[in-house]
Amino acid sequence: MIDISDIKALDAADPLRNFRQEFELPDDLVYLDGNSLGALSRLAQQRVADAIANQWGQDLVKSWNMHHWIDLPQSVGEKIAALIGAGIGQVTCCDSISVNLFKLITAGLGLQSGRRVILSTSDNFPTDIYIAQGIEKLLSSDRCELKLVEESEIINQIDSSVALLLVSHVNFRTGEILDMRKITASAHKQGVLVIWDLAHSAGALPLELDSCQVDFAVGCGYKYLNGGPGAPAFLYVANRHQEQIRQPISGWMGHSDPFAFSTRYTAAPGIHQFLSGTPSILSLVSLDAALDVFANTSMAQLRKKSLQLSGLYMDLLRQYSLLDEFTLLASEEDDRRGSQVAITHPQAYAICQVLIDRAVVMDFREPDTLRAGFAPMYNSYNDIWRAVNELQIIMKNEEHLDPRWQARNKVT
Ligand SMILES: *Cc1c(COP(=O)(O)O)cnc(C)c1O
Repeated sequence: MIDISDIKALDAADPLRNFRQEFELPDDLVYLDGNSLGALSRLAQQRVADAIANQWGQDLVKSWNMHHWIDLPQSVGEKIAALIGAGIGQVTCCDSISVNLFKLITAGLGLQSGRRVILSTSDNFPTDIYIAQGIEKLLSSDRCELKLVEESEIINQIDSSVALLLVSHVNFRTGEILDMRKITASAHKQGVLVIWDLAHSAGALPLELDSCQVDFAVGCGYKYLNGGPGAPAFLYVANRHQEQIRQPISGWMGHSDPFAFSTRYTAAPGIHQFLSGTPSILSLVSLDAALDVFANTSMAQLRKKSLQLSGLYMDLLRQYSLLDEFTLLASEEDDRRGSQVAITHPQAYAICQVLIDRAVVMDFREPDTLRAGFAPMYNSYNDIWRAVNELQIIMKNEEHLDPRWQARNKVT
């Protein structure tokens, strides 16, 4: 039986307990949605305020050189590289995952002449599937065909017709982790190149992109990396592919000499050609600052606490018999569980709304999933205790049955 004194002991012994002070979080809020929008760090708040007041406000266009705005996609990319096991010159920070996937899928197909299948999973994040469907429409069917299979079938379905494998490392709904090393190796045996979507992995768990021989990857700046709403995404292209590869959104920022204003496009060397248009400087400044908070800890330390938080959440769900009413989607095995725990219930939407009303923020994913995301930098063990206690009270009193909780918002 876990009680409040155990929780207090866990928080007191937590080596990361002081990190919460680095974030601007409302005092009474239990925020378990860092997998959707990471919290605001004080560092990001200060640096964005400074970039607005002093850089944009005072130095204006000179800031591109003076404050190195022009280098931000690269310098922020390198900070992300350090968190995902990538050596230098392979990561840049720009656009959204969706746009970066368009670049990588089309460019990847270009490296795989004679092969036309994009293999992905039916439970992949919808934008990944939509972008592949868009490319399928754009190219003729003899050049591209999207094939969707179950996650458990990926390895069986890899054969020499497949050009690209497009998979999410951590499933956004179930939180299930796929084996990056094993799947990448199986794909390579058949000459298949792999694009990993790291939206729910980067900043949440240790990654070893180089060591796993990953070809390409994309990831999110606004989830576990805390870059702020709409912060740019990142993309990774392994060194060995950079010379041959060409991406089709050949904008001026990816030109070898953008300020030559030449009429002829020449791709910049290395990862730089993956930039397209002018970067979002304020969002990059925010993400850059948020990444500096990671410098004072390690992914191993964050992962350790993340697993303890998700483990505690599951233990407490069991302790209060909540798993009689809810079905657990998350894996009990540490190696297979990302930094979230999802449970399902037919009334999950309404339950989520009542939780939010009671200052416990989680999110709902269609059709019946209640997701709790764990951000070990700012979540305490007491947050988990409070969340499960509120959930238990709601279920006992059937508060979610009140009709006012049924109306759907635009963003869930
Ligand atoms: C959040 C998320 C995205 C978001 O894509 P954007 O184009 O950056 O909005 C993509 N893939 C996965 C797996 C996600 O979880």
